[in-house]
Amino acid sequence: MTMLQSPDELVLNDVNYALISFVELNGFSRAKLVPMSVLSSVKEHGAGFAGFAAGDIGQGPHDPDLVAIPDLGSMQRVPWREDVCWFASDLYVEGRSWPYCPRTTAKRVLRMAQEKGYRFMVGMEPEFFLLRKGGDGRLEPADPLDMEAKPCYNQQSIFRNLDFITRLVDAMNRLGWGVYQCDHEDANGQFEINWAYTEALEQADRLTFARFLIRSLAEEQGLIATFMPKPFSRLTGNGAHCHVSLWDEKTGRNLFLPEGGAEGNPLALSDIGRWFIGGLLAHARALAAFTTPTVNSYKRLWASTTDSGATWAPVYVTYGGNNRTVMLRIPGEGRVEYRAVDGAVNPYLALAAIVAAGLDGIERQIDPGPPFAGNAYKLTWADASERGMTVLPRTLKEALEALDGDEVLTEALGPDLVSLYLEVKEREWREYHASVSEWEVERYLHL
Ligand code: ADP
Ligand code: MG
Ligand code: MG
Ligand code: MG
Ligand code: MG
Repeated sequence: MTMLQSPDELVLNDVNYALISFVELNGFSRAKLVPMSVLSSVKEHGAGFAGFAAGDIGQGPHDPDLVAIPDLGSMQRVPWREDVCWFASDLYVEGRSWPYCPRTTAKRVLRMAQEKGYRFMVGMEPEFFLLRKGGDGRLEPADPLDMEAKPCYNQQSIFRNLDFITRLVDAMNRLGWGVYQCDHEDANGQFEINWAYTEALEQADRLTFARFLIRSLAEEQGLIATFMPKPFSRLTGNGAHCHVSLWDEKTGRNLFLPEGGAEGNPLALSDIGRWFIGGLLAHARALAAFTTPTVNSYKRLWASTTDSGATWAPVYVTYGGNNRTVMLRIPGEGRVEYRAVDGAVNPYLALAAIVAAGLDGIERQIDPGPPFAGNAYKLTWADASERGMTVLPRTLKEALEALDGDEVLTEALGPDLVSLYLEVKEREWREYHASVSEWEVERYLHL
């Protein structure tokens, strides 16, 4: 956590403004800017919003103010405008905690985990594209020389974009995030940045702030940064893989490691680690409503192929070792990587749902079965069904149906929130089907 300074100390350090920020259900950030002189009062009384105008947060235009109370511990000094600091907030209405607030929901589920003696540790890996508007008004990768069919780790391309990349790394490291690498990803114009893992709530705040930071640095160069799951049909999409582990709240020991350690064998998991995986597999189809939360998400998962030769996204509900074709990869000792998660994720809701699913696995001692070995991208439907493998939802609609039937996730995130979420996402699905795409016109015009 950031070292806390009082509002007076911040002003002495030339921090004169505060962004009081929150995310609505889809993960969009909303904020008010206030002078530092009123921060103490905003901490007590909150910043007021017309919730209906602020996105999907469960309010009509007639409802009383949505009040955002900043969490002072979440402070990030905006690295490219050091006179401003940013705060994640929790939402209230008429003095009561608002049941549709994603961050409050995450805090509640994480508290439940804590009461069972667990600390949920998470590292998120955002991928994003740097885009510009081309001559015909369409968005295209910003760097015209970034044209290779297999551009991953392209040294020349990361070097051409070094100004952006180094400003980003420096900015995050000034915040103390422990950035340890950055690379050109698998699609033209696509990059990834990785920082240290933390306790889950702090990681969700970081991902939220990182989107703001990356977009702002891109805008300074006249570019658009996007985390959209699949901006181009032929190119690899944007993942936001989540690496997770559970630690003993008291001793600080990683409970995914077997007693005595894994001794270089990441698949040598403790029972807690195995059961947690069992829970993630059992709830994977419902979790998809949060981990791959948009219409567009399923185009990343189900693309038949990309120019680079792989989608790098799973379709089968599998786990395995250091194998990027499975849904749950165990890349190293004592942690699991959830690879279905994409760039559109609301990190508060997704992490709450993931930990709830994992804890259910522990509670019911769900055996995940043997790990999958081999190339899961090569599996046919017939192979998969012969092995009894579950498949991820093919569309947002299927994911919503799975969530609708999942009592564990509904109970954990709260029936009110889940029912609003389903309503919001059903509307997204209907709106998608209310629009006719170019593909449809091409395909059906002459029928
Ligand atoms: P890869 O590209 O191989 O999936 P990255 O190095 O890009 O992996 O990202 C790994 C992420 O996992 C980082 O955010 C890192 O901080 C995080 N991480 C490492 N160890 C743990 C752990 N024990 N628990 C949770 N996250 C972890
Ligand atoms: Mg007004
Ligand atoms: Mg990575
Ligand atoms: Mg990646
Ligand atoms: Mg990864």
